[in-house]
Amino acid sequence: MDIYSQFQSKLMHYKAQCRMVSLKHIQELETEFNKPIKDSFVNKQLYESYIHGYINFSVKEKYPSALSLIIVATPSPQIDLKFQIESKDFIFKIPPMYTDRVEVTGRIKKITSDIFNNNGYNTFPVVLPKKLIAVKSGLAKYGKNNLAYVEGMGSYHRLTLFATDLPCNNDSWLKVQTLDRCEKCFACQKSCPTSAINRNEFVIKAERCLAYLNEQSGTFPDWINPKAHNCIIGCIKCQDSCPENKSNISASRLKEKFSESETQMILKNTPFENLPDNLQMRIDDLCLKYYYKHLSRNIIPLIENYMN
Ligand code: SF4
Ligand code: SF4
Repeated sequence: MDIYSQFQSKLMHYKAQCRMVSLKHIQELETEFNKPIKDSFVNKQLYESYIHGYINFSVKEKYPSALSLIIVATPSPQIDLKFQIESKDFIFKIPPMYTDRVEVTGRIKKITSDIFNNNGYNTFPVVLPKKLIAVKSGLAKYGKNNLAYVEGMGSYHRLTLFATDLPCNNDSWLKVQTLDRCEKCFACQKSCPTSAINRNEFVIKAERCLAYLNEQSGTFPDWINPKAHNCIIGCIKCQDSCPENKSNISASRLKEKFSESETQMILKNTPFENLPDNLQMRIDDLCLKYYYKHLSRNIIPLIENYMN
């Protein structure tokens, strides 16, 4: 079995899927990625500061021996966290993808080390537009909510990407594909609490999306209805309402509980380094250390919505 087939077969143990594309498409990828700015479909300032700043298309300059990109989709469930306030339990959601970064990337690193590195091939970390690569490779299709949908996973997955010097004998590079169902469906547009989804376009108004806004610092803009908030970080509304996800919705999994005193520390925005070691470790294990500074601001409206 060739290296790529071995990798695919190993991923199947985790119900994950992948596609391989040649690095010769990198320039086309960059052009396609910049198209929404060029066509003035998106807020240029937001795009450049939030997304464009992270992406680096100079893969060949950085890793001259790299030949291919491999994109992997791994199922990722939504999860629940339980907080205690005045002896009452409050359970709030986190959408897929936020809390399993370490687990999934760690697993893929281990598999690539066993299969690629042990057979004399190198793998390289890259930061490129994963959703667009998933769609161009045929692994996923865009939904009108601008999420990538993978067969058998819907939008409930985490994408992982790496470059390798394994030659690309399985190049899969298509036109951007969208879900057929989106032609006659408006469920996500109707359910979006901030009117961020356009009726007939596949580019959303990212500057209105809660998943963008509640990852930023500062107070929420006045125009957001407080009832719109629905997750500790991110937003689940357009994924939960999407018929494409119906067969993929698995019950939310309770992943962590916080006691009364721990909840108070989080709500008071106690500096992370002043939290007890055990609490720091559990927040870190949930991959929430980076977002910790936003948790108090994000959770308070959820509690208020629950009470009213
Ligand atoms: S809710 Fe409907 S329109 Fe929106 S992504 Fe899903 S199928 Fe497409
Ligand atoms: S994540 Fe929430 S706010 Fe953003 S587009 Fe989807 S429903 Fe709207």
